[in-house]
Amino acid sequence: MPIYEYESLDPNKGCQKCINRFEAIQSINEMPLATCPSCGQKVKKIISWCQGTIGESSGESNSILNRIKSFESQGQWGHAGELADRQSEKTKDKSLKERALDNYKKGGYNTDWHEKQ
Ligand SMILES: [Zn+2]
Repeated sequence: MPIYEYESLDPNKGCQKCINRFEAIQSINEMPLATCPSCGQKVKKIISWCQGTIGESSGESNSILNRIKSFESQGQWGHAGELADRQSEKTKDKSLKERALDNYKKGGYNTDWHEKQ
């Protein structure tokens, strides 16, 4: 599941949440958010820089693991979870999937969509 980042269209309007950017986990089939769920201000989607960090060759998985570790040590649970999630889907690595769920939970994300699958 990709994480999308949103921010207020107008940097002078909106609440703390959308002015400072917020993350939302959405399925690919879901419509992107048009407004901030907290204040209703119009928001735009920002492509998460994480999208480009997944390497295609298996030789890169070590550096991906290192990156996950570094996200974890910085408390960036959303990014750590997303990276672990995407990597686990590619490598079919169950322990990595659990690590992703764990990271999502630590970040306060709702992981119900995983448990239903
Ligand atoms: Zn807002």
